Amino acid sequence: MSRDAAAELFQMIDGRREDLIELTRELIHFPTVNPPGDAYQPCAEFIGRRLSSRGFTVEYVHAAGTPGDDERHPRINVVARREGSAKGPCVHFNSHIDVVQTGAGWTLDPFAGAVKDGKVYGRGACDMKGGLAASIIAVEALIDCGLNLPGALEVSGTVDEETGGYGGVHYLAQRGWFAPGRVDHVIIPEPLNVDRVCIGHRGVWWAEIETRGRMAHGSMPFLGDCAVRHMNAVIDRLEQLLYPKLAARRTNMPVVPAGARHSTLNINSIHGGAAEATGYPAPCVPDSCRMVIDRRVLIEENMDGVKAEVRELLEQLAQERAGFAYSIRDIFEVQPTMADRNGPVARSTAAAIRRVIGREPEFICSPGTYDQKHIDRIGKLRDCIAYGPGILDLAHQPDEYVRIDDMVNSAKVMAMAAMSLLLGTA
Ligand SMILES: [Zn+2]
Repeated sequence: MSRDAAAELFQMIDGRREDLIELTRELIHFPTVNPPGDAYQPCAEFIGRRLSSRGFTVEYVHAAGTPGDDERHPRINVVARREGSAKGPCVHFNSHIDVVQTGAGWTLDPFAGAVKDGKVYGRGACDMKGGLAASIIAVEALIDCGLNLPGALEVSGTVDEETGGYGGVHYLAQRGWFAPGRVDHVIIPEPLNVDRVCIGHRGVWWAEIETRGRMAHGSMPFLGDCAVRHMNAVIDRLEQLLYPKLAARRTNMPVVPAGARHSTLNINSIHGGAAEATGYPAPCVPDSCRMVIDRRVLIEENMDGVKAEVRELLEQLAQERAGFAYSIRDIFEVQPTMADRNGPVARSTAAAIRRVIGREPEFICSPGTYDQKHIDRIGKLRDCIAYGPGILDLAHQPDEYVRIDDMVNSAKVMAMAAMSLLLGTA
């Protein structure tokens, strides 16, 4: 091929800058706030209409019975697929359409999609409607560039990522939508900065520990047994024994920020004793204290070991501390995941970043999780990365924005990466 197909693609995408801005604004106009999961259906249908007009076969997948799904807030996903000129691999772009609460501190209407100083503002502009819009412009340019590409292109808009993805990618992966053979390469345009390829994320274990005591009058605490003091003993063990161990446990995952490059534990909340229901504290010895922990897990660790480490510490206390009674309950867990940085999708995206941005791309892992876990662990599809235009630090903040230049550049990167994956030149 003597023509420079990539250069033609880039020119076409540059010519669609206004379209990209408009599309981002239109997506922001849907207040797809989760929870509760507002406006999923009209947003999914908007994406479906746009792609069906470009020759995609569009399917809406209602994740019936998943958390939060009801008549007012149906969990509607959209999956659009377009077959190429011949058999070949399928490149899939997956974006979540849900956004978090607007919260306080906005100086602009969060759903107006204001354009100012080369940026589009709004809830979800960065995380991740700007990325979704860029991926749509990328596939449209690929279709229009006249290359007659083999294989298939897919774009999905999925729900509930911000609450674990159960009605979204988790549901689709369980039903074979990400089965290898049906889909081969996945790019998730999450906001991880335009020159970085995110190959995975740490895992998570959330658990609730409860210590129990015995109620008594607050004036005679010696007649009861204080559950909060027992919990204090737990925290003391965490401080003395667990935190130093976790801090010393380093990972080879290239997690950003670097502070997250080891095992971490957050104490999310602690609840002990009776509530101040009438404005006065209850004069009682608390008989229960609950603490929720958030343990982030490295690819080098295994989940059973991570849990055993905490359980052993509690068991030890039960042996040594008079009256110590506890229980521990799993709330939520996600395995860590990391794709091969030399795999086709990471390699082709990195090559496209070099060409479009003119910089050596950075390979990173995310400290928190996103939908890659479901694609890897349930879908069994390993060749999956996150790459998108937003600035990571802006996600979930007031006056969230996405830079228009970054969206244009990321659309070029996604288009070029998909082209080389479809042509098998990656
Ligand atoms: Zn996101």
